[in-house]
Amino acid sequence: MKLSARAAQVKPSETLAITAKANALRAEGRDVIGFGAGEPDFDTPAHIKAAAAQAIEAGFTKYTPVGGTDELKDAIIAKLKRDNNLEYKRTEVVVSCGAKHSLYNIAQALLNEGDEVIIPAPYWVSYPDITVLAGGKPVILPTAEADGFKMKPEQLRAAITGRTRAVIVNSPSNPTGAAYSPDELKALAGVLADKDIIVISDDIYEKIIYAGFSFANIATVAPELRDRTIVVNGVSKAYAMTGWRIGYAAGSADVIAAMGKLQGQNTSNPASISQKAAVAALNGDQQVVSAMAAEFKKRRDVIVALLNDINGVKCLLPEGAFYVFPNVSALYGRSFKGSKINNSTDFINYLLDEANVAIVPGAAFGSDAHIRLSYATSMKNIEEGLKRIKNAIARLD
Ligand SMILES: *Cc1c(COP(=O)(O)O)cnc(C)c1O
Repeated sequence: MKLSARAAQVKPSETLAITAKANALRAEGRDVIGFGAGEPDFDTPAHIKAAAAQAIEAGFTKYTPVGGTDELKDAIIAKLKRDNNLEYKRTEVVVSCGAKHSLYNIAQALLNEGDEVIIPAPYWVSYPDITVLAGGKPVILPTAEADGFKMKPEQLRAAITGRTRAVIVNSPSNPTGAAYSPDELKALAGVLADKDIIVISDDIYEKIIYAGFSFANIATVAPELRDRTIVVNGVSKAYAMTGWRIGYAAGSADVIAAMGKLQGQNTSNPASISQKAAVAALNGDQQVVSAMAAEFKKRRDVIVALLNDINGVKCLLPEGAFYVFPNVSALYGRSFKGSKINNSTDFINYLLDEANVAIVPGAAFGSDAHIRLSYATSMKNIEEGLKRIKNAIARLD
């Protein structure tokens, strides 16, 4: 069938593809350990599930307002005030079917043909495609590992052109786990102060941060940017609710209204039942969040130590999220049974075939020197998987 140029332009998500491939191998009986998962391995907390069950029983199963119920908007407004010291009205908040949906609608609401979006690399796989689908032009800004994978103010300044419409800040980052300190954000804000550029702040990993680091949003540390910042967040990562599909955006009323209008012509409201669950998540006991973060921290410490124990692998200690992004480029050029490993895709294919571990190549995130492992899996899988990786690397010629 003849498909649209738009559909042909989009790359399938490589993180979803690797998970599907690992599942297919498992179905064939192979014992594959998955490090591809972009979601917490914990169950959704019981009080959140109970709120959803109650919503079903009570018949809260019909359309809601397109941009979310007032009850959920108020819970989001309270959260943004409590955690981020940011104040919004109901007209400045829209609830979507996941944070990815919010990001998609922001691009659709903001970008005209050729408008540039600065995307620091390594980046989350969907940012460039979401930009392209809206007619925008991704401007990839490579960051240095030596800078902790964080963009420097002078790098941001150099990437800005007359066509720059927005810059994406994702802290803590998927895939690197790097997070910006308040001072680093202030310095970036300084570059943007006199420019008409929107900051899209993807805060989805806000709650998954480790001892010694405290989360900040650029609009909190630089209030002058408040009206030009669109905060994106959701319940997927913090509350282990990826399947419920609730995310949200907060920002100036005009862009939020445009996003609501777009939703009104495609998805309509996010699931009514999920909205009730999200209210319970945001208004309920936050202890469940810190308990999950504490478990992730133990795993981070183990996986980073095991990676750095492998010859040819170098891994930074992430400040947040549940990914590590080790540099494996020292191993490129080595070979197995005569076939050479030249890049991150060759490398992860080798590990899948020879070590039965599923990992995402760094190329998918704009950095071919690296690979991404998610540690949203059990400690037992981490220990066994890393043993397999170490052994497979030792077998390279
Ligand atoms: C998981 C993720 C999202 C999207 O989460 P939703 O499930 O759509 O709410 C957005 N940004 C980043 C960086 C992510 O890793």
